[in-house]
Amino acid sequence: MGEKKTILTGIRPTGNLHLGHYFGAVGNWVKSQDAYNEFIEIADVQALTDNFNNPDKVRKNVRELTLDLLACGIDPKKANIFIQSMIPEIAELTVYYSNLVTVARLERNPTIKTEIAQKKELFGNSGESVTYGFLGYPVSQAADITALGGTLVPVGDDQLPLLEQAREIVRKFNSIYGETLQEPEHLLSSIPRLKGLDGNEKMGKSLGNAIFLIDSDEVVTKKVMDAKTDTTKIHKDDPANPDVCMVYYYHKLVSGENLETICTECKEGKRGCMQCKRELAKNLIDFLKPIKERRKYYEENPQEVDTILKEGTKKARFKASETMAKVRKAIKIDYFEE
Ligand code: ATP
Ligand code: MG
Repeated sequence: MGEKKTILTGIRPTGNLHLGHYFGAVGNWVKSQDAYNEFIEIADVQALTDNFNNPDKVRKNVRELTLDLLACGIDPKKANIFIQSMIPEIAELTVYYSNLVTVARLERNPTIKTEIAQKKELFGNSGESVTYGFLGYPVSQAADITALGGTLVPVGDDQLPLLEQAREIVRKFNSIYGETLQEPEHLLSSIPRLKGLDGNEKMGKSLGNAIFLIDSDEVVTKKVMDAKTDTTKIHKDDPANPDVCMVYYYHKLVSGENLETICTECKEGKRGCMQCKRELAKNLIDFLKPIKERRKYYEENPQEVDTILKEGTKKARFKASETMAKVRKAIKIDYFEE
C-alpha cells in the first residue's frame, strides 16, 4: 500500500460554522479523514488580516471553531487540527514566496478582486482599507498548503483562484531553485456553494441568512419559517415550483427518501408551505442533534480540546520544519547546516 496522500484544508476563526460550511466543506473533511493524511488549519493569521483590530474575536473563535469541527465528527485520532500562528515556518515561507508573485497578479486574482470591491463598498473608495497583509493572504495560503505537504486541497468555488495562485508560486519556486515542492491539486466540493435562507447565492456567516450548527431547535424552526419560498404560491393548494423554493432546496440535504413525494406534492398543489416547513425544521433538528451532542461532550471536557489542539499543532510543526529545511537548502540559506 502506498503512502496516504496529504489533504490540507483550512477555515478562518471568524464565527461559528453553519450549514454552508458543513455541506460545502467540513462534512467532506469528515469523510476524507479515513483515507487521507489530513491537516485542518485554524487560520487565525489569515483571520487577522481583516480582523487585526479585533484580536478578542479571533481568539474566541479559535475555540468555537475547534468545538464546531469536533462536533461535526472530525476525529482527532485521524485528522490533525492545528493553529496557523503557532507554525512560524508558515510565516517564514510566506516571506520567500512573496518574492515570487507580483502585486499586479495579486490584484488580478478574482477572489481578491471581489473581496477588495466588497471592502471599498463598506469603507469607501480610497484604498485605505486594503492592507499589504490582506493583499498578500493568497501568498500565505500557498505557504500553508506547501509547508504541510498538502497535495490535495478541498475547495469551494470561491477558493479556486487562490489555489491556482498557489500552484503558480510552486511552479516558479521549482523553476528558479530546482524541483523542491509538489504542486497542489484541488478537490472540488460537490456543493461548492450552499445558498442562503433568503435565496442569496451564498450562505454566509455575516449575511444573516445562515442556519448555524449551534442554533437551538427554536431558532432553527423560526429561520425555516422565514425562508424564501415560491412567491407566486398564495394559497395552500396552489401548485408551486420547488426549484425556486429554499425550503425544498434544504429538503434535498436532509430529507432523503421523502424527496420525490415532497417535489410532486408541491408541484401538484397537494402540500402547504407550512407543513413543508415544519417537516424541514424537524429533519434539520434531527440532523443537528448528534452534532450538538458531540459538541456538548467537548464543551464539558475543555482539557481534552486543549490536548487535541496541542498535539495537532505539534504534528503540523514537525511537518512544516521538514519542508522548511528543504526550502532553505534550495534557496541556499541553509547556513551552518551539517
Ligand atoms: P469569512 O466571511 O470569514 O470569509 P466564510 O464563511 O467564507 O467566512 P471561510 O473560513 O472563508 O468561511 O471558509 C471556510 C470554508 O467553507 C471554505 O472552503 C469555503 O469555501 C467554505 N464555505 C463557506 N461558506 C460556504 C457556503 N455557503 N457553501 C459552501 N461552502 C462554503
Ligand atoms: Mg471566506
